[in-house]
Amino acid sequence: MWGAVLPLKLTDQFDFSDVAAPDVLKRRATQRRQLLAITALSYLTDTVVLVLYAYAGTTSLTTPLVFLVCALLTVTCFAILSDAHFNDRFKDHYLVLQQMSVSFLLMLAFIYMAPEVGCVFLCSLFVTVALGSLRSTMLQIGIAWTLITAGLAVLFLFTDIPISMPHGSPAERFATLLLFVFTISRCMMIGMFSSALRESFYSQGLALKEAYRRIEELAEFDELTGAHNRRSIMHALAEEAERAARSKSPCSVALIDLDWFKKINDHFGHPVGDEVLRTFAITLFANIRLIDKFGRYGGEEFLLVLPEAGEDVAGRVVDRLRTIVADVDWNSISPGVDMTMSAGVATLLPGETVDSLLLRADVALYRAKDLGRNRIERA
Ligand code: GH3
Ligand code: MG
Ligand code: MG
Repeated sequence: MWGAVLPLKLTDQFDFSDVAAPDVLKRRATQRRQLLAITALSYLTDTVVLVLYAYAGTTSLTTPLVFLVCALLTVTCFAILSDAHFNDRFKDHYLVLQQMSVSFLLMLAFIYMAPEVGCVFLCSLFVTVALGSLRSTMLQIGIAWTLITAGLAVLFLFTDIPISMPHGSPAERFATLLLFVFTISRCMMIGMFSSALRESFYSQGLALKEAYRRIEELAEFDELTGAHNRRSIMHALAEEAERAARSKSPCSVALIDLDWFKKINDHFGHPVGDEVLRTFAITLFANIRLIDKFGRYGGEEFLLVLPEAGEDVAGRVVDRLRTIVADVDWNSISPGVDMTMSAGVATLLPGETVDSLLLRADVALYRAKDLGRNRIERA
């Protein structure tokens, strides 16, 4: 219930920059209604104690009645404002300080008007402050403290009303006992909400961290094959090409395409096609150097970046990969499955752009396909 009761700053009142989506506004309104219901319940417990004092003859029955009407009236006013989404105009959509101030005024007025049961309203002040502090900023707490201190100072220093804690008769002592039990219970519940809130923040933090890690992973890796995705492998290629140009070292690429892959999908189904792609990627990963970069360029086309590899080395490496792929026991995926790869290998020329390098690799790949597949061609 208190999960989203966030401490917000009391700055930039009427700030519309934070206008939230309709579902967020709806959720906020529900949270506010829950909070107002808790406030009303708290006022009801005060009323119960006041009724007991009235029964004990400490105060007249008018006190609990007038208190209940005033208290429910303030809660209703805030509920109407909340349902009209007036609160959403403010950064602190709970209007914590406003609600606390109205509650302070109510309690101070009743201490003044019914000092014979003043302890009820004094205790209620504690509950109001504790409840409000749950969602307040330091500034709001500071303002609330100043307001309540000033109000109490006026009552205690500038009036001589005898603020009482009735304990004359057994009925009064019982009512006072209940008052303290209710107050302690309310404070304890607020404390429990506060720790639940902390726990929820902690677990939300962990979930956010995990989500962030997953987003990073998704941004870099292809979900099906675990290879770099196109964006990531292109980034890696750009980096390697730059490094090669700087250090005057060779850098090659291979555009690899699976042969007749469409037939795998058509004859064995898409899931088998996916498994072939995964197995192919794992096979390549297991047979390349740590410094090589391997990524999914598109559908069943992959890009292998081979830093520090000149034309001959790259050609030999990719041809070795071709034979390894051809030797994989593809049958184990589904009887009848077989798979080979074709590749176009190109080595970065001095001053050449990445686009031109890839174009040459692509032309070589097409030649490999035209010449019968399961082969590599150098650009
Ligand atoms: P070629 O030897 O000329 O490359 O023939 P091919 O059948 O491999 O070539 P083509 O480009 O016509 O077919 C590629 C197929 O790859 C078409 C598409 O349905 C399939 N494909 C692309 N991405 C995926 C994927 O993620 N999973 C599966 N199962 N199939 C995919
Ligand atoms: Mg293909
Ligand atoms: Mg293709």
